[in-house]
Amino acid sequence: MTALAPIPFVDLDWQHRPLSSALQAALAQVMTDGDFVLGRAVADFEARFAAACQGRFGVGVGCGTDALALGLIACGLGPGDEVILPANTFVATLIGVLRCGATPVLVDCDRATALIDLDAAQRAITPRTKAIIPVHLYGQMVSPQGLRTLAEQYDLILFEDAAQAHLAEREGQRAGSLGQGAAFSFYPSKNLGAFGDGGLVVTSEETVAQTVRSLRNYGASRKYYHTDPAGTNSRLDTLQAAVLNVKLPHLPAWNQARNTLGQAYDRKLAPLVEHGIVPIRNEAGPGHVYHLYVVRVTADCPLRRDDLQARLGEQQIQTGIHYPIPCHRQPAFANLGYGPGAFPQSEALSQEILSLPMYPGLTEAQVDQVVDAMLETVLSASSAPLTSALG
Ligand SMILES: *Cc1c(COP(=O)(O)O)cnc(C)c1O
Repeated sequence: MTALAPIPFVDLDWQHRPLSSALQAALAQVMTDGDFVLGRAVADFEARFAAACQGRFGVGVGCGTDALALGLIACGLGPGDEVILPANTFVATLIGVLRCGATPVLVDCDRATALIDLDAAQRAITPRTKAIIPVHLYGQMVSPQGLRTLAEQYDLILFEDAAQAHLAEREGQRAGSLGQGAAFSFYPSKNLGAFGDGGLVVTSEETVAQTVRSLRNYGASRKYYHTDPAGTNSRLDTLQAAVLNVKLPHLPAWNQARNTLGQAYDRKLAPLVEHGIVPIRNEAGPGHVYHLYVVRVTADCPLRRDDLQARLGEQQIQTGIHYPIPCHRQPAFANLGYGPGAFPQSEALSQEILSLPMYPGLTEAQVDQVVDAMLETVLSASSAPLTSALG
């Protein structure tokens, strides 16, 4: 076999190289202006990003986790309130709920989409339930219609974790516009990434926006007048906002490229379904922004997930697992009292998921290379079942 070029999991350099001079000019401008904290670029970015999400206000904060924590506090959530969230998410969603002081109530996910199971969410509702946090995992929105029905029926606050879903759409609605507020992250590898940490709350409610503005700035509703005891220091840096302002105009094209690549993977992987490689189902169609492209390596596959990942690694194809341990099985959250088996779909998914290379600069030829390598690996394992049983 001829040696093929390695395929990285993500390639940020692909994104930054063509923007290099614009990025450097934007950073230099901040140095010249000297408005390092809550400078002009922050206000510009807040307004532009909120508008792109079809929301009225944007409030930049230090990271996505703070966007969740401060956004939930601003929505009035706190001790005694139950907040429903999926077990199948990045731990930051859970950390955000714990930091606002509310009681997290985890629910299982749909195995095919990896998204929160709204029937399970409905069953978890009690008189103390105040809010639900849908996580638009991997860039696919949870159904807006399903969420609205549930939120209206039980009078719940709807707060989106949109950290993986910048400008995602479903049923004609955009991530960030569904409920009282939404949290975004600009961690470097997200669909829109800064040169470090960054986050933002999008909301159309003026009081929520005002409260997050105060909370991020020591709880000061005006200068040196502190009204919010939960106040902290968590602001989107002007330097980060300057970077994000340069990148934002490119985001729609980057998302489009991700969606096209996602469709290509789906199409090319179709022959592998009978061998137990099943892509996470896209129910959002063209509005799925594929932060990650994830397949399930099911029991029908002759290779276990970890073996397949290792074989791909030997062929210089980088993959990831998002996430290997569900939130409720993390040592930090053992005190929540969810034992093994509490969320069977989430636990099973954590064993079978594999994230394939995905970034806007990936080419269809590289997708072919990934899929060919998977096909070859799986076929050779099925013709030599002993090897995999021993391996
Ligand atoms: C990245 C991420 C977060 C947290 O964002 P940070 O900026 O890293 O704090 C929250 N939720 C989800 C689903 C994420 O992927």
